[in-house]
Amino acid sequence: MSLAPAPVLNPDKLLQTFLEMVRIDSPSGEEEAMCAYLAQRVEQLGLSYQVDAGGNLIVEVPGHRCEHNRILVFSGHMDVVPPCHNIQPLVEDVDGDRLITSDNTTVLGADDKAGLAPILEAVFFAVENNLPRPQIRLIFTTREETFLGGAKDLSDDALKAHFAVTLDHTGKQGVIINQAPSYIEFEAECKGKSVHAGIMPEQGINAITFAAKVIEKLHLGRIDDSTTSNIGFLTGGKATNIVPDLAVIRGELRGHQPETLERELAHIRQTLAEVSQAMPGTTYELKHHVEFEAYKLDESHPGVVNVQKAARKTGLEPQFIRTNGGSDNNIFVKRGLPGVVLSAGYMEPHSLKERVRLSEMRLCAEFLVNMMEVFAHDEF
Ligand SMILES: [Zn+2]
Repeated sequence: MSLAPAPVLNPDKLLQTFLEMVRIDSPSGEEEAMCAYLAQRVEQLGLSYQVDAGGNLIVEVPGHRCEHNRILVFSGHMDVVPPCHNIQPLVEDVDGDRLITSDNTTVLGADDKAGLAPILEAVFFAVENNLPRPQIRLIFTTREETFLGGAKDLSDDALKAHFAVTLDHTGKQGVIINQAPSYIEFEAECKGKSVHAGIMPEQGINAITFAAKVIEKLHLGRIDDSTTSNIGFLTGGKATNIVPDLAVIRGELRGHQPETLERELAHIRQTLAEVSQAMPGTTYELKHHVEFEAYKLDESHPGVVNVQKAARKTGLEPQFIRTNGGSDNNIFVKRGLPGVVLSAGYMEPHSLKERVRLSEMRLCAEFLVNMMEVFAHDEF
């Protein structure tokens, strides 16, 4: 009697799935066609799914030879940043590998379809070959690129699980992101007084001058090891012959330490007050909004330990990274579902040079298959 050889995930099928996905237009807020494609694929496998009010696709994959009742989430986002209409992927043979790029007129959409394709193929592979796995929930979100809009719309039920693995980062397989920052948007309205600039300039108060003086005093760029700040907009003015009465500064603060962010917000407020005091007649209003909150998951968390175990089983060396970007995982962790973000293998996302290698997507799919097995055995 001879043992049947272990099944092997088909890279051509993975490539085909990825190419099908990137050819589907899915800008943020218009993910319906992408959602329909994914729904049709999981339906063929007999899996049940639902599309929630936020347009998110949620798929339930029953466990198999699992030793507990815990639920593992695999997640990625369906939307793509512009320019992303009519993407024409090009496949090139490079050193025995396949390199996939766009035709240089759009992004490729590998962010995040190089995450979605391995998730889909790994789960199909596990189901078709009866491989061990815990109960798995696939959460494919909408509007991730526009401040995690889809994830914010997820129901509590959808997030009732025990660990989440989100595939949405650049870099080689093995990267594990267990820390991400808070993100605060702020807007300062600097107000002065409008008059005719030629006839009575003495009676005007120039709001743009006010705003410029404020900006000059703000802490911008890398503030410290864990905090950054940026001004993205300065708007104001109506005509060259009018002293402007309003200038608006819009910017962001990112950081891993809540105290530092509080301190920096206070510094912005203090700067506005000081400059305003030195320019009689000016007033201001500062508004801010926390788009998402920081998280840090310990490397000894049982879910994180399982991810590391699966990485080694795949021949990958786990590498922990603190990112300065946000992802759906910020929302998951904040709402009580612990998780990490892993690489989806894409390079130079959000650019026309965005690309991915098939070998990376294949490693990603194998990593996911090994994760299912580890998570089926080891409680998390
Ligand atoms: Zn992404």
